[in-house]
Order: sequence, then structure tokens, then C-alpha cells
Amino acid sequence: MKRLLPTSTAGSLPKPSWLAQPETLWSPWKLPDDTLFEGKQDALRLCLGDQLQAGIDIVSDGEQTRQHFVTTFIEHLSGVDFEKRETVRIRNRYDASVPTVVDAVSRQKPVFVEDAKFLRQQTTQPIKWALPGPMTMIDTLYDSHYKSREKLAWEFAKILNEEAKELEAAGVDIIQFDEPAFNVFFDEVNDWGIAALERAVEGLKCETAVHICYGYGIKANTDWKKTLGSEWRQYEEIFPKLQTSAIDIISLECQNSRVPMELIELIRGKKVMVGAIDVATHAIETPEEVAATLRKALQFVDADKLYPSTNCGMTPLPRRVAQGKLHALSAGAEILRRELLG
Ligand SMILES: [Zn+2]
Repeated sequence: MKRLLPTSTAGSLPKPSWLAQPETLWSPWKLPDDTLFEGKQDALRLCLGDQLQAGIDIVSDGEQTRQHFVTTFIEHLSGVDFEKRETVRIRNRYDASVPTVVDAVSRQKPVFVEDAKFLRQQTTQPIKWALPGPMTMIDTLYDSHYKSREKLAWEFAKILNEEAKELEAAGVDIIQFDEPAFNVFFDEVNDWGIAALERAVEGLKCETAVHICYGYGIKANTDWKKTLGSEWRQYEEIFPKLQTSAIDIISLECQNSRVPMELIELIRGKKVMVGAIDVATHAIETPEEVAATLRKALQFVDADKLYPSTNCGMTPLPRRVAQGKLHALSAGAEILRRELLG
């Protein structure tokens, strides 16, 4: 990335109201099957336009073609029975009815590759594509086949690697794996979680990122955050191993979070997507607030490795708010860019 402080978003952006219910997570599609494909492409174009207009440097599809950041990917795989459901605890936080792994999992055909090709045709800006991480995938399922979290994660890592290689060939510049589960299961992350992630990126020549956040601004997450005390030191458990991993970029939640910024020192040498936009509030940051967060992060990450971003996805926010936050992110990064370039 030649541009200093290239901006991006962590993931999802709001969908238009004709495609899915606004301000709702995992909202079902409103269009019938025969017009849904075209509708998703139109939404992707609008979402890209919003990012370009706001001056975002590394753009994405805003996850316009998926309902859920994990489930939509899994729906395309074989070996998982969506009719057979069990209630499990997601990231030790809330109960959810999830599908069951009933047989060996495999990818029969590409999942997002056509969508990525479509995005690539629309812009010459660098593009980033998000996939779920292996550990977060297993945490959203009931497994009656492998009966081993590690084994299932490893199988998903191999599948993700197949998909990632095709996304790279489609022209994706950065492939990001969403691993909120890395903030919860520290022992497993260090034992095999990071190794599984490295299996997912094996042989890739494009850049790779891992997004580790404290979740969308939904009640289960904000309630959980209240139990974490005055300092959130979760990242400290996994950063030493991530620092030596094959992943190029680490995407973190920093705006209005209680993560001590100095923890970023533990991944010195990595590129860091610093979340400078809070996704759990409708209040739009001022450019100066964004700049202040980035300035603080600059003490612990070299300027050429600092990537201003959002804490997490913005799909549950009103479009007007998300758009305002994109502009604030751009303007805040520009303040700092001017300071750095004198
Ligand atoms: Zn997130």
C-alpha cells in the first residue's frame, strides 16, 4: 500500500431497505429468488459508491451479498445439516440455535468468488474480502461428526484456503479472516487456533488479515463488555503468538474500548488496522476524535503500518450514521497524514 494511513472498514455496511430490514442483524432477504441476485449486485454497487464518496482507500463489498458473516459461508458447504438444530452457547456469551455437522465438511463450489469478481470490475481501488475464521466457524455449529473442535477447525481451514486462493485469483488484494472467537478461547487460540488460521492462508501471495473484535454493538456483547472490568487485556493473551504468525495485518477494536493501547506493542512489525470508529453508538465521531485515537496508536505501530479502520462491521447502524462515520474516518486519517507529512 503506497498511500500513508490507508483507510478501510472492518466489514459489513448497512443494506438498502429494499434488500433487507434496516438496522437489523442477520435480517432475511426481502426480494424473491428471481430478483435477489441482481438486487445484491445493485446493493454492492451502492455500498461501494458510499465508500468511494467518503474517500475510503481499501474498499469492500460491505457484505451486501451475505446475511450472516459465518452462516452464509457454511450454508454453501456440504456436511452441515441446517434442518438439524441444537442450542449451543456462542463464545460463552449467548445461546443460539445452530446447525449440526453430520458428515465430512467440504466445499463443492466457490462461495464468494463471483461476488468478488463483480466488485473487482467496479473499481481500481485495492479491495478487501472478509471470510469467517476457522475457530469462529466451529463456535457457530454443533458437531456430531468430528467430535473435536481442533479437527473441525482444521477441516474448515483447508476449505477456507481453497476459497481464499480463488479470491486472490479474482483480484482481491487483502483477504481478512474474522476471528472474534480469538478474544475468548485463549488456550485454544495458542494451541491450535493460530495454526489453523495459518493453514487457511497457506500459499497466498496477497495480503492477509485477521479481525479480532469485541463484537457488533448488540446487547449480548455490550452486556459482556460490562463484565470485562476497567482494562480489557484479552489481546495480551494472543498477541505474542500472532506477532510471529504468517498473518500480515491485525484488525483491532480501539475506539471507545478499554483496550490499553500499549498492547499493540506486542505485535510490533505487523500492520495494524486500528479501529477508530465505534460501531456500538449512533454518535458520529468527529475527525479530531478519530485522529486522537490514531495518534495514540502511532506510539506503538510504525506510521507505514497503521491502517485506520472501524471497530467492527456497521450493518446494524442507520445508513446515514454509517455514512457519517465513513467520512469521519477519512477526515480523521487526513488530519494525521498532514501531521506526519509536515
Ligand atoms: Zn468485528
